[in-house]
Amino acid sequence: MTIFSRIIAGEIPCHRVYEDEHVLAFLDIGPLSDGHLLVIPKEAKAQIHELSDESAAAIGRVLPRLARAVMQATGATAYNILQNNGAMAHQAVMHVHFHIIPRIGTSGLGVGWNAGKLEGARAADLVSRMKGALG
Ligand code: 5GP
Repeated sequence: MTIFSRIIAGEIPCHRVYEDEHVLAFLDIGPLSDGHLLVIPKEAKAQIHELSDESAAAIGRVLPRLARAVMQATGATAYNILQNNGAMAHQAVMHVHFHIIPRIGTSGLGVGWNAGKLEGARAADLVSRMKGALG
C-alpha cells in the first residue's frame, strides 16, 4: 500500500481540490511552483500502462478542467503535465499520478530535452513493432 492509498482512504490528510468516484486531486506537499497539483486514480496501480480504461477515461475527463482551475487560481498561463513511470523515470510514489505544474517565472518544472534525430529505418521498425503490440 502506498501513501496515496492512505490519502484516498482518509488516513492521511491532504489539501483536497477535487474528488469523484474514480479520481482524487490534491496539492503536492513539495510543490515545484505555487499551485502544483496531483491528480490520481483511486485504482491502486503503480504505472499508467496498468490502469483500467475506466480509470484512464475518468482522469482524461477531468484533467483539462483541473488545469483550468490551477491556471485560474494561480494566474499561470503556462504549465506542464508530468506523469512518471518507474524509479528510473523519477517515480517516487508507486501509485499512478499526474502532476499539473504551473510555470510561474522561473519556478516550475525544469526540463532536460536531449533530442536525437529520427532515422527512417528505425522509425519503420518502431511503427511496425508498436502496431503489432496494439494488435
Ligand atoms: P513522483 O516523483 O513519484 O512523480 O512524485 C511524487 C510526488 O508526490 C512528489 O512531488 C511529492 O512531493 C508528492 N508527495 C509525496 N508524498 C506526499 C504526501 O504525503 N502528500 C502530498 N500531498 N504529496 C506527496
